[in-house]
Amino acid sequence: MSDNADGEPTELDEAAQVRWDALKDAVVELAGSAVDVDGFAAAFAAMRQVGQGIDLQEVLNAVHVPDDAGEYAGALRRMLVRIPDGWGRWISCSRGWYPILVDLDQQLAVLFPTYEIHQAKEKYGGLRFYWHASERVTDPEDPEPDWPTLGDQATKAENDAAWAAWQVVHDAWRVRLARYVETEVGAARQADLERRAKLAEQLVDAAEQRASVTCELCGRSGQLCRTQARHAWYQTLCPGCAAQKGYVRAKEESE
Ligand SMILES: [Zn+2]
Repeated sequence: MSDNADGEPTELDEAAQVRWDALKDAVVELAGSAVDVDGFAAAFAAMRQVGQGIDLQEVLNAVHVPDDAGEYAGALRRMLVRIPDGWGRWISCSRGWYPILVDLDQQLAVLFPTYEIHQAKEKYGGLRFYWHASERVTDPEDPEPDWPTLGDQATKAENDAAWAAWQVVHDAWRVRLARYVETEVGAARQADLERRAKLAEQLVDAAEQRASVTCELCGRSGQLCRTQARHAWYQTLCPGCAAQKGYVRAKEESE
């Protein structure tokens, strides 16, 4: 199970975690053996074998606090719980950026207490943070109509009729909502929501900007680096970490 009694997502249990770790090792093995067909076939078979015991939904919905989280484990865990079911509760970057993410999360939580994170990851050497305010203005006296509830026994015709009826009710509600947003109170709330959303976007941009000058591995000041292969991998690194990994400054080639 990856939900506790309150419906809040939890870590994989130990057995599932062991299977998942084994699958990750098998995938790494597979990627490494891709140079030779026999090696690939053997690694692929091994990966399939390991993968059989795995429930992908369970893995996606469990909370994956990174092994190197250290002092940030609690704060990162609170972020992972904000990721809705199905997206995968991972933070896909290395520890040098954890303080940036944690600061950003605390700022956004002030603006939007129930905001959702969709993805927080490294891409092309930069930080990408995708989120959703999960809030909109509605009239507190006139909440959105609930979806129809139908028993398991409902026929398709009953189902269609219930949804058609709900659609009519919902359309009427949308008309009332549009009128509410034009009232003084509604307009003020809408303006406040838009102000917070704009500020939140600026905070996300600032965090991505901060990551672009912070070593993803150690958190010291860094810059965009690349491998020297023609199809390069990019990562934001400090000079020390870059030297250790054999990366060079991305800019140097054009200088
Ligand atoms: Zn570094």
